[in-house]
Amino acid sequence: MPVALELATYVAVGPREDRALHVFSADFDELCTIPLDDRSPRPDNHWSDYVRGVAGVLTTLGLKLRGANLVIVGGVPMGSGLSSSAAVEVATAFALLHNSGCALDRKQIALACQQAENEYTGARCGIMDQFIACFGRKGNALLIDCRSLQSQLLPLRPECRIAICNTGVKHGIASGEYNNRRAECEQAVAYLISRLPRIEALRDVTLSELQEFGQGMPQLAFRRARHVVTENERVLDAAETLRTGEMERFGQLMLASHESLREDYEVSCDELNIMVSLAGKIEGVLGARMTGGGFGGCTVNLVRQDSVAHFQEEIAAGYQSATGIAPQIYVCEAADGASRVTGDGAESLA
Ligand code: ADP
Ligand code: MG
Repeated sequence: MPVALELATYVAVGPREDRALHVFSADFDELCTIPLDDRSPRPDNHWSDYVRGVAGVLTTLGLKLRGANLVIVGGVPMGSGLSSSAAVEVATAFALLHNSGCALDRKQIALACQQAENEYTGARCGIMDQFIACFGRKGNALLIDCRSLQSQLLPLRPECRIAICNTGVKHGIASGEYNNRRAECEQAVAYLISRLPRIEALRDVTLSELQEFGQGMPQLAFRRARHVVTENERVLDAAETLRTGEMERFGQLMLASHESLREDYEVSCDELNIMVSLAGKIEGVLGARMTGGGFGGCTVNLVRQDSVAHFQEEIAAGYQSATGIAPQIYVCEAADGASRVTGDGAESLA
């Protein structure tokens, strides 16, 4: 159940007469040329993989893309768990589609971007990041059923702010561990399926079934599965608290989620744990947890509006004295997902 933030990545686009994309990244200060007819999904471990991937997948879907000049200006910190990758993919998809006079609905755009990331960067990511970048709406969280791709907007209380705290660290193991966790969860499913033939994924398993039928599986797979199963329950509980407006309970679920990410899923790190534990002691904070793939990056904090200034001071001072790092803090409200911005600055979601 993600929200879209007010941080945005912009892609400016204009047509070219040849069959190429000339892409300039302002953040990397680098120009790349991508032939539109080269569709080999090989990860180059380069930022242009995301653009090449989106163009490649859209072409595979049968869309006739035109050549384009693109300029990418990022406003989402990279590699910090806020999904700058999905921001770049979705913005690129919107730009290429517009430039080519092609239409594709937002669900297909999200799926195409996920496929691009899977095939062209090697990250076995799910659909969440691309989906919220397409479907986020101001003031709302989005409950996503990642199997049916049905989703439901749930309004956040207007007095709540989302404060993002960047630990400023990124531990080296992060990238590989994401795919490892997926493999461990698949191992758990493979074990459980012989006892529970109806299941296809961990979302089909209840906690009591896991406890009853999962005892013989490797300890590590069991704990990974327990995180997923309990996290799914927490998400559904959290959706209910948004419907009833019990934000305190919502905050407790965020803290429980962090604990499970730390202990069972083991994707946290000291800096994230320090940041979450500092937040828990600050007045006006409803909840806090790490976000994204872990091993560094950001925490997300739900803070009452009238406590935001105090929160920023306290968490910055506390984190700096514990780690020597001055954290970046972004205070946001839930925002709209991708939109088209014209030269006069007007935005439209169409
Ligand atoms: P996250 O999505 O959590 O930020 P990822 O590792 O999934 O982290 O994606 C980060 C990568 O996405 C960057 O290393 C870069 O290759 C690409 N990227 C993100 N933002 C931009 C940008 N503004 N310009 C070019 N590439 C970007
Ligand atoms: Mg990403």
